[in-house]
Amino acid sequence: MTDLQTPIKDAGFAEGFLLPVAPYTDWTRHRNDGVFHPNTAPLADDPKETYPWANAVLICVYPYTPYEDETLVASYYPASNRAYHAMKRLMALLKERGIRAERAETPYREQLAAYGIGSRMDNQLLYLEPYGTYFNLQGAMLALPEPVAYTPRREAREICDHCGLCKAVCFGAIKGDYAFDWTRCVHTYMEGDPMPETAMKQLPSLLGCMRCQAICPKNPKATVPIPDEVRKTLDPVAVLRGNRKEAEALIGKNLSAPKRVLRQAIVLAANRGRTDAIPYLMKLRETDGERFKAELDYAFSLLQNP
Ligand code: SF4
Ligand code: SF4
Repeated sequence: MTDLQTPIKDAGFAEGFLLPVAPYTDWTRHRNDGVFHPNTAPLADDPKETYPWANAVLICVYPYTPYEDETLVASYYPASNRAYHAMKRLMALLKERGIRAERAETPYREQLAAYGIGSRMDNQLLYLEPYGTYFNLQGAMLALPEPVAYTPRREAREICDHCGLCKAVCFGAIKGDYAFDWTRCVHTYMEGDPMPETAMKQLPSLLGCMRCQAICPKNPKATVPIPDEVRKTLDPVAVLRGNRKEAEALIGKNLSAPKRVLRQAIVLAANRGRTDAIPYLMKLRETDGERFKAELDYAFSLLQNP
């Protein structure tokens, strides 16, 4: 039997689950109900259409401990960058073993929930023992050379007791009883499109929001101090000064693209009353004023008329 757990751990993951290639029935139903962002539309409902050569889905878990102070940056994104690199290492290790593997964007959370491995929560996250909702998932389609033992299906468990705490701290996305309005979740504005003013007012930290996780009584309570390197690099004014290379090392190429991180840094500097950002905002208005018009207008309206 092919040993996958050794390379999974060597790559830096806590564990990995091997599932059969099956249609995403539950996920498709939720998508049809309008629960997910429209960028999920091109994903095929049946992975066999996109990966006819694959005989297994591998979903790997990269846990993280949240920062004790999440008001600067949401700890999820530096962790997801580390998970991305762990997956790169895993792909190389599998290749060395002669296993065909391809990173795949599949609905990992729903797949794990469908097998009873994790439990859906009202905040749309997946709860997985012992990490709570603090982990990043990375997945791949595999062509294993011999028959595989899939991770056994477990009995589904209800962890969320619909206490309403996450709904109370959210900006309107969490509707309760698993209902969700993606248009109101701050993470929707991570794609780099101009932000509507309501989203700008809501942005609680750089790169999204951790409120619904931090408040959840089912989650582990451990936190770690925010690393100095993260604090210095992802300070909104440091980002506005221009530190793309350092930011890229922490959060990856995609998120450190100016259209994403600069847009958020402008808004966050304004929400924090950071008048020391004004010289950089003025410079940005000269060089890229059209592109960041909505965010710059918002920032100047707050910082120049406090
Ligand atoms: S805060 Fe309460 S309602 Fe929200 S996910 Fe946690 S247990 Fe469920
Ligand atoms: S991340 Fe923030 S905005 Fe999105 S569901 Fe959670 S609390 Fe609401």
